[in-house]
Amino acid sequence: MNEPMHRKNPPHLKVAQGNSVLHQTDESVLRVLSDLSSDAVWCYDMSPPIDIQLPVELQIDAIEKNARLTEANKILLSMLGVMDLSEILGMGLRDSGSRHYVLDLDEFVKKNYRLIDYDIIRQDDNGKEFYFQISCAGIVENNHLTRVWGTTKDITARKRYEERLYYHFYHDVLTGLPNREKLYLEMENCFAHRHEDQISALMLLDIDRFKEINDTLGHKTGDHLLKKMGPRLTAEIVDSQGVVARLGGDEFAIFLPRIRSPHQSVIIAHRLTDALTQEFDLDGFCTEISVSIGIAISPTQAQDQHALMRFADIAMYHAKSQMMGYAIYSTEIDPHSQKRLTMIGELGRAIRENQLCLYYQPKVLLDEKRCYGFEALIRWIHPELGFVPPNDFIPIAEMTSMIHPLTAWVVENAIAQAKQWQMQDLDLSVAVNLSARNLMDENIPKMVARLLNQYQLPAERLELEITESAIMTDPTRAMRILDQLHELGVLLSIDDFGTGYSSLAYLKRLPVHTLKIDNSFVRNMLGDRQDEIIVHSTINLAHNLGLKVVAEGVENEELLEALNQLGCDEAQGYFIARPMPILHLDEWLLNSEWFSN
Ligand code: C2E
Ligand code: MG
Ligand code: MG
Repeated sequence: MNEPMHRKNPPHLKVAQGNSVLHQTDESVLRVLSDLSSDAVWCYDMSPPIDIQLPVELQIDAIEKNARLTEANKILLSMLGVMDLSEILGMGLRDSGSRHYVLDLDEFVKKNYRLIDYDIIRQDDNGKEFYFQISCAGIVENNHLTRVWGTTKDITARKRYEERLYYHFYHDVLTGLPNREKLYLEMENCFAHRHEDQISALMLLDIDRFKEINDTLGHKTGDHLLKKMGPRLTAEIVDSQGVVARLGGDEFAIFLPRIRSPHQSVIIAHRLTDALTQEFDLDGFCTEISVSIGIAISPTQAQDQHALMRFADIAMYHAKSQMMGYAIYSTEIDPHSQKRLTMIGELGRAIRENQLCLYYQPKVLLDEKRCYGFEALIRWIHPELGFVPPNDFIPIAEMTSMIHPLTAWVVENAIAQAKQWQMQDLDLSVAVNLSARNLMDENIPKMVARLLNQYQLPAERLELEITESAIMTDPTRAMRILDQLHELGVLLSIDDFGTGYSSLAYLKRLPVHTLKIDNSFVRNMLGDRQDEIIVHSTINLAHNLGLKVVAEGVENEELLEALNQLGCDEAQGYFIARPMPILHLDEWLLNSEWFSN
């Protein structure tokens, strides 16, 4: 092994520099600089020297094996924690401490035996990481790499400072959760690398009446509550690899980069709500909170993080204003959606100018094979747009007071039609759909009573369909209105059952007569075992509660037969008949095997 600092250099050696190789006659100047330097200075000898015409991998291999430390200044000694040079002389690269020295060597060889301000990470025996920056140059003689001179700067303190800055830049001080910047970064990364069929969801969550908590219990308690939110939210999404962030105030965001279906985000929203409605113990105060969650889905609704954020925000305000707990974005709830603005304006005119009409779809009893009535379904024939499906305008009407005249129009026309049937001696009832907003309206029972009286229609010839989710929006209030409608003697059924998460406790207390199993379960029942189980158990559940069951969406005979076998009472669907205008109805009644008066 060479004595350090005393080597004689051959007259012509070359120091690698950039793409050219410079001549240097004496390395002694390096040794002088090394003593003066505040950085660590070192030299590795290659013994034996390495042929630089070998393939890169072989050179890397050889450098790894042949490099021996021959020179080091005091700074390197203290960096490596040794007292004397003799303790480290002859040390190989493996002991240099860099975790990635093979990669470092690759870079060194490819950059023509030079590295400048190149960062490396060392790990001590306890796994603690230190950061260094090295610059080095190889000395090449006769096409052989003989030595490498270099300097090492300890940049650990700077790195740690940068890490702290990074942490503060991307985290919320109060809760320690990722902040808005970090959330955007995560979403951006996700969208940059997403797979074609990858579905993501963003949920914005806002505490209801947080101001009251702050005002009554004090800001310190408010802060305490905010701190406790993070762990509860995070616990619910651990298996979804999502991000929980605090955006400021009482607003949190949950980003789920990969979900199976939009429906899964609804399930998670329920889990989050349940987790947060458990009591919080805040410095001895126990408090219960409720939250509003807005959901937006990518890529179907929004392609980038900015649109996703805007849509989730709109959904959140919708959920809050409608006291819905959660809401998924749709153009109908977006106050800025052009479609919606135009439609609100035109809907009023549609009612006044008779652009609306009712279609009727038969409902049949399975055991008697008999049509006992029709569901009235609203249709809007727009002078320019043509046919507008109810799902495109009912939700818009529901957001404005427009739903009241619209419902009144439907109820009156349906009752008038049912009266017509009665006068024709046809034993038929009519079913009308009520919307969630109608169930919040104390005037609805009075309006129904007035119209039944005006047309002298027996109440049992009118059925009202209420969706499960409409009831669950505000169950106590819905129950009060339903009780009053029940008093009138009209029949009540729960529509789209299976999609609204109603609690069995409510179901048992509701004055309803029928459950209508949602289309989506019935349609796939024959091919999907899960759906079949849902349909089967819903039928059993309904029967145990003394309710009748209607299956919606019966599109073929096979389904009808299967439902019959499962004990389903009634059915409705394209197989029996599509919804039809009143003009076609008489003909259908005349010819159908389902009807013989
Ligand atoms: P709904 O009450 O569940 O009505 C059943 C819907 O399923 C109707 O769609 C009907 O045309 C459709 N349908 C019936 N049989 C089949 C089938 O075999 N296969 C398939 N794929 N679909 C079938 P429509 O008429 O588009 O109505 C959609 C929803 O709009 C209704 O769902 C109801 O919630 C609402 N709606 C309709 N009319 C009114 C109304 O007058 N007032 C209120 N508030 N809502 C209404
Ligand atoms: Mg219905
Ligand atoms: Mg339905």
